[in-house]
Amino acid sequence: MSTNKTNKQSNRTKTFEDLLRSRLAELRTHVDQLRKDMMIEDEVDDEAMQASQSRNRELVTITMEREIRNISEIEQALRRILNDEYGVCVTCERSIPDNRLQAIPWTRQCVDCAGGGFKRSNRSYGQPAYGSSLIS
Ligand SMILES: [Zn+2]
Repeated sequence: MSTNKTNKQSNRTKTFEDLLRSRLAELRTHVDQLRKDMMIEDEVDDEAMQASQSRNRELVTITMEREIRNISEIEQALRRILNDEYGVCVTCERSIPDNRLQAIPWTRQCVDCAGGGFKRSNRSYGQPAYGSSLIS
């Protein structure tokens, strides 16, 4: 006898897996492109041109670093899908609502945990998310 208990779960995550994969492919293409752009050594004599070129390179580096970080987040999310851990908050272990996953498919935390940034001693289920950012 076989049980197919994971069927429902894999249907739900399939959409997000597709999302993550296409986003991952996009980012990889873009990072490759940026890398190639960086390789091109433009010969400029002009000091002002050199200055703007190096400033531009700085911006490209920042963009690349951010995208590479994003790539690794997405890879981790895909690994969680494989391990059947996707869509569960790593902090409070509640399942992350679909609308949040649609906004940030690689997120590891629910809104409460990601926004609050502090641990709640008592888990309050079903509480509205607002108020968690009122730390001041
Ligand atoms: Zn949480």
